[in-house]
Amino acid sequence: MAHEDYYRILGVPRNATEDEIKSAFRKSAFKYHPDCNPGNKEAEARFKEINEAYSALSDPEKRRMYDQFGLEGLKAGGGFSGFQNVDVGDIFGDVFESFFSELRGSPFRTARSRRGADLKYDVEVSLEEAFAGAKLPVTFERAELCETCSGTGAKSKGGFQKCRTCRGAGRVQFSQGFFSFSQTCPDCGGRGEVIVSPCGQCHGSGRVKNKVTLNIKIPQGIHDSSTLRVAKAGDAGSRTADSGDLYVQVRIKHHPHFERVENDIIYHCNLSVTEAVLGAVKEVPCIEGEKTVIHIPGGTQHGKIFRIAGKGMPFLGARKRGDMMVNVKIDIPAELTPRQKELFEELAKTMDSPDSVRDTDKSSKSFFKKILGVFGFVL
Ligand SMILES: [Zn+2]
Ligand SMILES: [Zn+2]
Repeated sequence: MAHEDYYRILGVPRNATEDEIKSAFRKSAFKYHPDCNPGNKEAEARFKEINEAYSALSDPEKRRMYDQFGLEGLKAGGGFSGFQNVDVGDIFGDVFESFFSELRGSPFRTARSRRGADLKYDVEVSLEEAFAGAKLPVTFERAELCETCSGTGAKSKGGFQKCRTCRGAGRVQFSQGFFSFSQTCPDCGGRGEVIVSPCGQCHGSGRVKNKVTLNIKIPQGIHDSSTLRVAKAGDAGSRTADSGDLYVQVRIKHHPHFERVENDIIYHCNLSVTEAVLGAVKEVPCIEGEKTVIHIPGGTQHGKIFRIAGKGMPFLGARKRGDMMVNVKIDIPAELTPRQKELFEELAKTMDSPDSVRDTDKSSKSFFKKILGVFGFVL
């Protein structure tokens, strides 16, 4: 059989761009597609030629060989066997695309059955709320089914028409050589019908935006930056599809007294010098609002941590609590009354280490004593 020029088969000039070749191929492939010409042997043969021409001209390397050496050049290039070399899926996608863009007529296509969008919302809770758990009202906007049309998108029950793309079947099928493809009709989303008179409220989408308030359950022991998922509380899906989910990100506010580390609570407790030295009984606040008593033994050092078991945060999802850590801070008085100063000086006499050098009015005598003592004088 005489070789017909590939450019002629596609009806494009020799200097056609890649896009022009692609577009010409789509048009011809659609025109001669076996599905559109059932039983027509001539159309089938032409369809094969078109595919063969496209397979050669859509590949820059093959096209160069073809331009230079004709069909012989392609054969010499090796691996060329006409149609089989074509990426069928790729071309098929193209054919599909053009097929539907040509058949799409109704401006009110039924929305595809699609899952609703997930929504995200941030909330802030106090440490007390994280401790005890809470129900928090959260107000946000989401797409919900249109009540006017019950989500159908049509003005009335008769507002639908059989889908022209799939002729009501909801699925479209294509076959090419050995390959057969079937997919949900993209125009009616598989419903087999499209809207001809859309609902005035939602304009055919079947969904409207509403402001809603939901009570979000904050579980006991929740951690900062946790995300809670509320299934199906997001945007409504189109048609019968599922709603999306609502994701609530929980932030825990800074607490004026407590610091949280994992499930433990740290509390900083101030002690006076005498409390630290002599020991004391202290009342400390707890996260549950009550107070608890701790016994500080005499001689407690600055920075010491007392652990109160079971007074921390609850473990998420478990009947167990962390501990409370009381971190001791000793306050050194910055100002003293004359009496206090006197007592401290009295104390100092009993406690000063031998190498201490004190420079106060009252102790100047002993200071000089020490200095002179160093030089061997005795007063
Ligand atoms: Zn509606
Ligand atoms: Zn359809």
